Amino acid sequence: MDYRFSDAIANTPKSFIREILKLTQSDNIISFAGGLPNSALFPVDAIRHAAEHVLSRDGRNTLQYSTTEGHAPLRAWIAERYARHGMNVAPEQVLITNGSQQALDLLGKVFLNPGDAVALENPSYLGAIQAFRLFRPQFHSATLSTDGIDVAELQAVMRQHQCRFFYGIPNFQNPTGLSYSATTRQQLATMLQQEQQLMIEDDPYGALRFSGSSLPPVAALAPEQVVMLGSFSKVCAPGMRLGWMVAPAPVLAQLAVAKQAADLHSGYFSQRVLYQYLQDNNLDEHISQISHAYQQQQQAMVAALQQHLPPGIAHTTPEGGMFLWLTLPKHWSATDLFHIAVRHGVAFVPGEPFFADASQRHHLRMSYCTVDVATIHTGVQRLAAAMAEYAAQ
Ligand code: PMP
Repeated sequence: MDYRFSDAIANTPKSFIREILKLTQSDNIISFAGGLPNSALFPVDAIRHAAEHVLSRDGRNTLQYSTTEGHAPLRAWIAERYARHGMNVAPEQVLITNGSQQALDLLGKVFLNPGDAVALENPSYLGAIQAFRLFRPQFHSATLSTDGIDVAELQAVMRQHQCRFFYGIPNFQNPTGLSYSATTRQQLATMLQQEQQLMIEDDPYGALRFSGSSLPPVAALAPEQVVMLGSFSKVCAPGMRLGWMVAPAPVLAQLAVAKQAADLHSGYFSQRVLYQYLQDNNLDEHISQISHAYQQQQQAMVAALQQHLPPGIAHTTPEGGMFLWLTLPKHWSATDLFHIAVRHGVAFVPGEPFFADASQRHHLRMSYCTVDVATIHTGVQRLAAAMAEYAAQ
């Protein structure tokens, strides 16, 4: 049979990370490659209680179809939380999604025609590049550095290519761990307002801050210009597949149409269980446990990197989130290093696929959150050995 696939799917490569992770699934490999939260911190018992509660008290409704926008009390709970950022979000502005990954797909459906321009951070989240790629856009990037996105460059890029939106991750970015400074956020908000441009602000990691003080979302500074994405994946459990979007009313109305066509609504059972969990437990306490654990792990990784890595290799030290980003000497290839590292029993994610134009090969992403402190040390020693072998080639 000759399956006549669409141009869109035929031109979308398989997830590079999924492919590469297949090589790392051996007991002998210490993997810093995963992007998964630490399952030891999932609130299994509390979720079980919540599930029992909703099934025994209101089983029939819980298992029924529901509204496209999502469970109203859950939307209200999410809206109210934004008050801590000085944001005035109405529950009607919240749309529940199947994780923020679905939000990316819905945004593509609502905003992108084939050939339209999209502005990205360079590098950017691989899953967003893949989700948008199905709508066959042109990607244009602006530089991301320790202060965040280069706003002047982004402004020029968005003007020149008439971008439909800018997609950015201002807190503890995947893959670099970098965050935007307060000044960058303000400059970006002003630029979006002046240019009447739209930003997709993806924020799955912002709550996982373990040092420094939290900074306002760009959405708080330019609410008409920003669609904000949030997720329960990193602060509760990704298997629930629940996230949300906060959007200005006219945008939300279109997103709801796209959502209805895609799946009618997100799993009502998950939403009811999650909402019950949020009623019975203090999510902030749970988040501080997660952040504390990740802080210990990050400190262990940073200490090991500083002790073992050869000179000439830089790394970020984020104030939260799940990732560190290493920058190798310019002529190195992280993908070549990856294959040597796997032989030494350690894995990471080569940075190349995070650049929409595949322009830089000398970076890699390290996740610390699923590996215990002692093993982190051993893994980094193995990485150093792999680097020594690479350098000697
Ligand atoms: N955005 C970013 C930046 C991510 O890192 C991830 C998960 N790796 C997602 C979105 C998707 O997460 P989820 O669908 O589980 O909310």
